[in-house]
Amino acid sequence: MSRSLIVQKFGGSSVANPERIKRVAQRVVETRRQGRDVVVVVSALGDTTDELLELARQISQDPPERELDMLMATGEQVSVALLAMAIEELGEDAISFTGAQVGIRTDSSHTKAKLIDINARRIQQELAKGRVVIVAGFQGISVNQDITTLGRGGSDLTAVALAEALDADACEIYTDVEGVFTADPRIVPNAHKLKSISYDEMLEMASLGAQVMQARSIFVAKRFDVPIHVRSSFSSREGTMITKAAKAMEDIVVSGVTLQRDEAKVTIRDVPDKPGMAAQIFKELAAQDINVDMIVQNVSREGATDVSFTVVKHDLPATLRVARHAAARVGAGDVATDEGVAKLSIVGIGMRSHSGVAAKMFEAMARERINIEMISTSEIKISCVIRKAHAERAVRAIHQAFGLSRR
Ligand code: ADP
Ligand code: ASP
Ligand code: MG
Repeated sequence: MSRSLIVQKFGGSSVANPERIKRVAQRVVETRRQGRDVVVVVSALGDTTDELLELARQISQDPPERELDMLMATGEQVSVALLAMAIEELGEDAISFTGAQVGIRTDSSHTKAKLIDINARRIQQELAKGRVVIVAGFQGISVNQDITTLGRGGSDLTAVALAEALDADACEIYTDVEGVFTADPRIVPNAHKLKSISYDEMLEMASLGAQVMQARSIFVAKRFDVPIHVRSSFSSREGTMITKAAKAMEDIVVSGVTLQRDEAKVTIRDVPDKPGMAAQIFKELAAQDINVDMIVQNVSREGATDVSFTVVKHDLPATLRVARHAAARVGAGDVATDEGVAKLSIVGIGMRSHSGVAAKMFEAMARERINIEMISTSEIKISCVIRKAHAERAVRAIHQAFGLSRR
């Protein structure tokens, strides 16, 4: 009979210092001593990745992305080695690996590489020797043998992908909160921990700013049906299960409120109001790989209209270049940017079958006298762009309006 296999991922705050690394080792050893095979995925210590990026910024404003990956991948290499030592100290066999060593193959799109496949043989060999296998999260190796990284928060993706490749019985994500909450508990202290959430809702929440899970990892989990247990590394309480179908709870319309602060609004003024203008502008943006999020076109006056859209701040310099070029080509006016915005969203599968959800959201903001600048909706979410300065207050008001803390 094959032994049970568990993948456990520990995020940066869970391994922020030697004491915490020892605690993680303890937890891994306990699991191991229950007779299970354990594969551990670890992130870089604390804020290491941010610190490495800041170092790079002090050298160059526009560093080659290949070198950024070389730099960032060092963070996880430190934590796997230290954790292996800590586990050995407790009397269990452990061995650490980089992504490359365990065959995590990716494409060559540095800093946001896509997984191609994982050759799990080396891991299986080491597990068969009775060792705990520790894998560096967030990194892989490209078809050109270059080190790559999987996008911020990418250790979640490493864990989910390994759970799938090894056909693990469980995938546990250990972090600094007790699970997935109805809103970021740092913003809404009385937010409620969800017992379970569906892949679709978690994917929306993650894409719309709930940092607790990386969105791409949920995409992969959904595709291969890998159940995920998000829980705290500082307690033994049950966390949140992310699975195919969260329990049918039809009375729950909204599962969570999220906030995204890293978007900027761009406005092209006086765009001629005739066919083909939007096509021309957004075609040029797409050609430069710029992902446009929300778009609003105002009512025209005197044959011209303003077009506003949002992009992630990281893309703002390139967006401005392309937008100015496009504006000149179509005979539009100047291009303005606004970094003082935030995007607030509500997510819930129940919205599919309930009406009045948008009205309730807008009313909550009206009561707080918060102006809505842009709106977009999909089947299971509603997003509004508002002033960043009011964002946290708005999250609390909406959380309250939908009764999310009283479950
Ligand atoms: P790790 O280092 O373990 O990967 P992250 O910082 O990436 O941890 O994610 C955990 C953080 O996500 C929490 O500290 C919390 O502030 C934030 N967060 C945002 N939205 C939510 C939410 N809906 N539920 C839980 N945590 C959230
Ligand atoms: N250390 C990487 C980051 O900070 C990956 C991760 O933590 O998941 O983004
Ligand atoms: Mg994370």
